[in-house]
Amino acid sequence: MKKICLIATGGTIVSKDGGSGLEPELTPQELLSYVPELKGIAEISVRELFRLDSTNINPQHWEKMAGCIREEYGDFDGFVVIHGTDTMAYTAAALSYLVQNSRKPIILTGSQKSVYNRDTDARRNLIDAFCYAADARSHGVYIVFDGTAILGTHARKTRTHSYNAFSSINCPEAAVLQEGRIIRYFEPECAGEVRFYGNMNPRVLSVRPYPGISPEMLIRTMDCYDGLVIECFGTSGIPAYGGFDAAVRAWAQAGRAIVATTQVPHEGSDMSVYRVGKDLMDLGLLEAFDMTPEAVLAKLMWVLGNAGSRVELERMFSERVWMDTFRE
Ligand code: ASP
Repeated sequence: MKKICLIATGGTIVSKDGGSGLEPELTPQELLSYVPELKGIAEISVRELFRLDSTNINPQHWEKMAGCIREEYGDFDGFVVIHGTDTMAYTAAALSYLVQNSRKPIILTGSQKSVYNRDTDARRNLIDAFCYAADARSHGVYIVFDGTAILGTHARKTRTHSYNAFSSINCPEAAVLQEGRIIRYFEPECAGEVRFYGNMNPRVLSVRPYPGISPEMLIRTMDCYDGLVIECFGTSGIPAYGGFDAAVRAWAQAGRAIVATTQVPHEGSDMSVYRVGKDLMDLGLLEAFDMTPEAVLAKLMWVLGNAGSRVELERMFSERVWMDTFRE
């Protein structure tokens, strides 16, 4: 039987409402006691790292999760990370960069309803996650939720209440799970040895332009940040009025790493199409293409924390990690 390490971080799945709103309370052992079938799927050991609503997860928590996986890597065949759904897509992306080329699966799951609810989705998600983690053909980082496996770099929370909370963005779902059976649509290759990283640099500002945006925030805050993500309109245009584009130029000239992505959910960015994008290409902006904003943010923090030079930063950002961009 495969040995799987359950890493508990909190989320609705272990939450109860003691009168002040839902918050994580159950221990991992209590959680497992609701799903005795798991004993027939894998030999499970538990590491409880945090008991947090994932609203409170930050890059330091990602480093701790990756550190835990690194410490336990030799002793287990795979990992299941229990996590709140609200920031699960960010964590899945971050772990895809912090633990690369892992032949051992790292599966994130959680639920929309707490495990003790009669109509909970927790039982199904846990069983699916452990089946996926215990399967010899699984490797790398995925979210397994509502019967689908989504690459860690392509997941996005798209529903606040329904059981199908996550969508796979700009990439097909990797597999579906039906009563313990895994039907795989594709399997990305793992090339080379597993590599672990630490050092996420959280000094990244993310801005989402809107009609009427002023450059004030960019002008006042530049010294607080090393990187900037701009969730542009459409294929990627940056407003050319009111000094917004000039503020972006000032960030680039001050050596800040800037990534242009799109606020449109599907099909990705392309700065070369319109003048409002092309005019800024001389600044050496990095482009997200078909990455999700979650993956862009996590990758920029990882790159800023680990690159030794600007050239290395650009290379690391553009290199494909766990299928995070289809644009060659
Ligand atoms: N607020 C919860 C969390 O992200 C939501 C959930 O787990 O579904 O921790």
